[in-house]
Amino acid sequence: MEIVTSTAALRARVATWKADGLTVGFVPTMGFLHRGHLSLMALARPRCDRLVVSIFVNPLQFGVGEDLDTYPRDHQGDAQKCRSEDVDLLYVPDDFYPADFSTRVSVSEVSAPLCGAARTGHFEGVTTVVARLFGLTRCDLAVFGEKDYQQLAVIRRMVRDLALPVQVVGGPLVRDEDGLALSSRNAYLSPANRLRARTLSQALAAMGEAGSVAERIRRGRAILDVDRLDYLEIRDAQTLEPVDDLARPARAFVAAFVGETRLIDNVAL
Ligand code: AMP
Repeated sequence: MEIVTSTAALRARVATWKADGLTVGFVPTMGFLHRGHLSLMALARPRCDRLVVSIFVNPLQFGVGEDLDTYPRDHQGDAQKCRSEDVDLLYVPDDFYPADFSTRVSVSEVSAPLCGAARTGHFEGVTTVVARLFGLTRCDLAVFGEKDYQQLAVIRRMVRDLALPVQVVGGPLVRDEDGLALSSRNAYLSPANRLRARTLSQALAAMGEAGSVAERIRRGRAILDVDRLDYLEIRDAQTLEPVDDLARPARAFVAAFVGETRLIDNVAL
């Protein structure tokens, strides 16, 4: 596996692959890799000739007072994990944005509710970084996790609207044995809060049992043991619009702070 830190080196390597007619698969991450990330690499691996993973903690998608400066890092461990998934190139940029970078990519509608409402500017940061990463990697296929279900929907919309030549593939959410959705941010949790964090997935599971939308939300709320709830909602699985009933495929979404740590989770109903 090759590790590159310069954008020029990434472009040069990708250019040789493209000249040979090879397809490129891509898994973008912020690092501190866990089994959720590795499952996306395993999904991409058989679908492309060359597999690129990026590790970049993108300042554009963090708000004021969020955890940009403390985001967990383990570049050596991450590189080892990527090797074990047969990644061809690990891109850990030290020069990602040009000094006079002045473009923003912004998707409306699907990025408005849920995390878009709770984290102003977050999805614009995500779509901007992903658009540039797609340009740099020239990927034919990119894999994103359903852990960040709204992010996946926003990226699908961006790719469709801008007619980007990238196939977007969604990977299932990977959980710990006790149900907690795997996240790099779980590393922040104290042992006591780690136990409380389980109530997110427990609430979503309870919302999967029969009942009206309002009943399911009441049931979920009663289970949550969190310090601040950003949202607990049921929405259309495709459009992310609110639903009155479960006639069409729907999902339950939660975001909450346990201690200082913001956690998200979602489940199909
Ligand atoms: P991150 O490093 O948190 O930006 O995540 C990078 C990619 O990994 C995104 O597409 C996430 O949706 C995905 N991901 C993170 N956690 C999980 C998980 N528990 N299961 C599946 N995919 C995940």
